[in-house]
Amino acid sequence: MPSGPRSRPSTASRTLAGSIVVATLAIGAASGLTVMQMRASAWDQVGRVSQNLLESVEHMVDRNIELYDLSLQAVVEGLHNPEAEGIAPGLRQAVLFDRAATANGLGAILALDAQGRAFADSTAVVPRRLSYPDADFFRVHKERGDVGLYIGKPIRKETDGRWTIPLSRRLAYADGTFAGVVVGTIDVGYFNALFDRLSIGDGTRIAFFRDSGELLARTPRPEAAIGWSVTEAPYFHRFFERRAGQFVDVARIDSVEVLFSYSRIGKRPLVATVMVPTQAIAGLWQPRAIAIVAVVAFLCSGMIGLTLVLQRELERRARAEERALAANRDLARLAHTDGLTGLPNRRHFDQAFARAREDVARNGAPLALILLDADRFKRYNDTYGHLAGDEVLRAVARVLRRQVREPDETACRIGGEEFAVLLPGASGAAAAARAERIRQALARLRIPHVGNEGGVVTVSLGVAEALPAETEGQCFSAADAALYEAKRQGRNRVVVRPGGEAGTRVA
Ligand code: GH3
Ligand code: MG
Ligand code: MG
Repeated sequence: MPSGPRSRPSTASRTLAGSIVVATLAIGAASGLTVMQMRASAWDQVGRVSQNLLESVEHMVDRNIELYDLSLQAVVEGLHNPEAEGIAPGLRQAVLFDRAATANGLGAILALDAQGRAFADSTAVVPRRLSYPDADFFRVHKERGDVGLYIGKPIRKETDGRWTIPLSRRLAYADGTFAGVVVGTIDVGYFNALFDRLSIGDGTRIAFFRDSGELLARTPRPEAAIGWSVTEAPYFHRFFERRAGQFVDVARIDSVEVLFSYSRIGKRPLVATVMVPTQAIAGLWQPRAIAIVAVVAFLCSGMIGLTLVLQRELERRARAEERALAANRDLARLAHTDGLTGLPNRRHFDQAFARAREDVARNGAPLALILLDADRFKRYNDTYGHLAGDEVLRAVARVLRRQVREPDETACRIGGEEFAVLLPGASGAAAAARAERIRQALARLRIPHVGNEGGVVTVSLGVAEALPAETEGQCFSAADAALYEAKRQGRNRVVVRPGGEAGTRVA
């Protein structure tokens, strides 16, 4: 049987499994790519929005500081104006701080003398008894003359506990020596209010701090964080790598991972930063990504499940087919086999005879047929019993198997105690010689048979070489006639049909 029927289903099953693996991988890769694109696009979007927000913050802070500075400069100019000297204190105060009142969020402006004592106050005609000889802004201006506008460390007001940012400018005598400081404070709450209006929600934070690290304003505002030094944050140095940029790190104030977008504020020693929690960015793409992955996983597992079911079914069918084929083979073999001797039966003989005739017709070789019949077998059964008779038939079959060269030659049991041997390629003479060998081989077994001439089991054989012109039936009849002739002549002999090889004598 060809191996095709066995291998075909497993090939189909392998192809199925292969294509499903490829399809699953392709779908997985496509959805992976989609998810990655969704993530990239969310980060890109947040990056751009943060950048825009940062520009607004930068502009707003810069513009406000500039306005405050103009107020301070007006006071400095007023104090340097010799005409201001000697005018009535009330009028002097009104002239000096005239412009200062217009700026939003600006607190009191003070003029301090060279010892740090207030000598002019925007909030009182008679200056309050305030002095800041140790404040950083005072010391900076005292030590250096080229500072210009100085943005100081945040100060917490003792009166109401609010944080303020001091902005200061130097006062100098005509010869340039230090004469004091003009200082104004901006309420941190003012910036917070501005940032609140800008905030885009989702936990976005906005802040700005001094180059030296002190946090000046931040929204949402943890009051405790104002004045806190950013320098302690491990990412502090990154704010100075470029004028503006972005990076991801854990914000120190609340330990939340955020995307930092930072930028220097104008040319000032200040850095503004917008922080968006990465969790909020994930919120933009993860729910959709999870839905996509879930659907794809569901579809793929369904596909794989179906494939497995299909594969099992294919294999089950292949096995059933294989079993059916094997059963068919057994049936076919049984249908062509004689149960008693195991030799091929009459049905097989007929087919083999027809096939052999076709073969020799093609290649021009001879074909001979031997018919063999046990002598006096009825008597044998009568004497020794039917079972013993069966044993004799098996002995005849063994002799034939030994004398026949399979698979070219075929020995069959064609009837009760009758056998046939097909000898393709053998002439009548060669077949007669073979028949004689068979006869002798059986006789040599010397199976007792008192009813038979000679006292042992013998056979008679008829031989005919097939003639090209005759049918199988005619050839068979000729061999049968020769066998009949052997019986007639006294049994235990070989007779070749007339015109073929002469018969052999009794052994
Ligand atoms: P002859 O020498 O003329 O052939 O005489 P014969 O007795 O052999 O011829 P006959 O045809 O009269 O008898 C054949 C006998 O073979 C009859 C039957 O009992 C016996 N026989 C046929 N098939 C079987 C079988 O399967 N087993 C046994 N034990 N005997 C069988
Ligand atoms: Mg017979
Ligand atoms: Mg007989």
